[in-house]
Amino acid sequence: MRKPLVAGNWKMNGSSESIKKLLSALIKGAKSVKNAEIAVCPPYIYIPGTAGMLSGTNIVWGSQNVATEESGAYTGEIAVSMLKDFKCTYAIVGHSERRTLYGDTDQVVADRFARALAGGVTPMLCVGETLAERESGSTEAVVERQLKAVIDKNGIQSIAKCVIAYEPVWAIGTGKTASPEQAQDVHAFIRNYLAGQDMQVANGVRILYGGSVNAGNAKELFAKADIDGGLIGGASLKADDFLTICNSF
Ligand code: PEP
Repeated sequence: MRKPLVAGNWKMNGSSESIKKLLSALIKGAKSVKNAEIAVCPPYIYIPGTAGMLSGTNIVWGSQNVATEESGAYTGEIAVSMLKDFKCTYAIVGHSERRTLYGDTDQVVADRFARALAGGVTPMLCVGETLAERESGSTEAVVERQLKAVIDKNGIQSIAKCVIAYEPVWAIGTGKTASPEQAQDVHAFIRNYLAGQDMQVANGVRILYGGSVNAGNAKELFAKADIDGGLIGGASLKADDFLTICNSF
């Protein structure tokens, strides 16, 4: 049985004050969330404060990225040991904004994934196609290529220790959500692809959907057989909306 997960990706948003307010509201509201695990991924600099407020609650926290290296001369990077130091449960790797804006290749994503796993932080691996790729009929090939790079480096068993997020790039921050059927089709493809290598891994791994999920569309998406929760951007910055999404199971 896969426990649903709703994770908030706050991206580069917030301030000490706004985050305190958001977290206070989430802590209060999350007490009545029974059917889903809840996670938030603040900007790095707010992780210590977030950890301080969330420890002892039913909300866990994570990062939006992780370095490929463990320590040393890597100006501006954050190592997995540092994330572990502040008790991060998850590290997002391969978010499409990292892939497209900061040049994270499939290989770099596989390296970040490896580093997170080795350091005891669960990678939340994002995969997904652009609009041009969807329109040219290559959605499955793109998603397969992105998964294969991680599996080639880390082995199929590593997938049992991660969370996958299918995030069509054309649906991120655009207000254009994939229909529940479109999302389910890709989720089923991912699970079948993994099942071709290890049935148990395929059945156990949680596959989240991300891309303009909001309080109004979450229920329909989460009702699909292979959608095990959501990775939420914009709507995770509004406590009421995020909590409604968490209660959509
Ligand atoms: C995301 O950035 O992971 C995301 C899904 O964003 P949004 O919900 O705003 O589309």
